Amino acid sequence: MGMRYRDYLVGARIYGCSTCKTHLATIHSMLSRAFNGQHGRAYLFEGVVNVIEGEPSERQMTTGNHTVRDIYCVKCGTILGWKYDFAYDVSQKYKEGKYILERNLLVDVQ
Ligand SMILES: [Zn+2]
Repeated sequence: MGMRYRDYLVGARIYGCSTCKTHLATIHSMLSRAFNGQHGRAYLFEGVVNVIEGEPSERQMTTGNHTVRDIYCVKCGTILGWKYDFAYDVSQKYKEGKYILERNLLVDVQ
């Protein structure tokens, strides 16, 4: 990954990439802690910063079919979770445009 401008968050609690400590999200944008990622527990966020979004792909989950994009740390390239582009099930529509970050890949940076 080349050098890029990185957003710097301020707030009560900031989550960063566990590999390089790049800021990713604040607790204020967290919507839920009750999600499961590829590596265990995961959090749903309204918005995140300093990530690169991959190409869309279809993924079958316990809650139905979704179109998602893997999200990568802008600095170190670690896959941190995914973004929901589209949910086929009406009851899952609230996830569209939201982001999953894997708890095991996050650190507190404050
Ligand atoms: Zn990183």
